[in-house]
Amino acid sequence: MNFCERCNVAFSEDRCPKCGRKKLRAVRDDDFCLVAQVDRACGENLKRNLESERIDCVLMPYGTGFRSKFALPLESYLVYVKYKDFDYVRQMLKENA
Ligand SMILES: [Zn+2]
Repeated sequence: MNFCERCNVAFSEDRCPKCGRKKLRAVRDDDFCLVAQVDRACGENLKRNLESERIDCVLMPYGTGFRSKFALPLESYLVYVKYKDFDYVRQMLKENA
């Protein structure tokens, strides 16, 4: 698997599917990778569930420019987990969807 340090995504192609960058390195087990975009309530639930299983998880607020400009709560989160937990978390999200 390759890893793009700019976007934090892991993928098998030889260029990043998000930014098109070709300067990549092999992914490591402790790299945080983008696993999903979820709404706010779902993100907070997910983080709690993962923490109870001792899985590290990072939530990045993600919303429209309009909302952030007026300081309203951002509507969703980008969810990052370590590569070693990536498949597990993705599976978990699929089952809960
Ligand atoms: Zn990229």
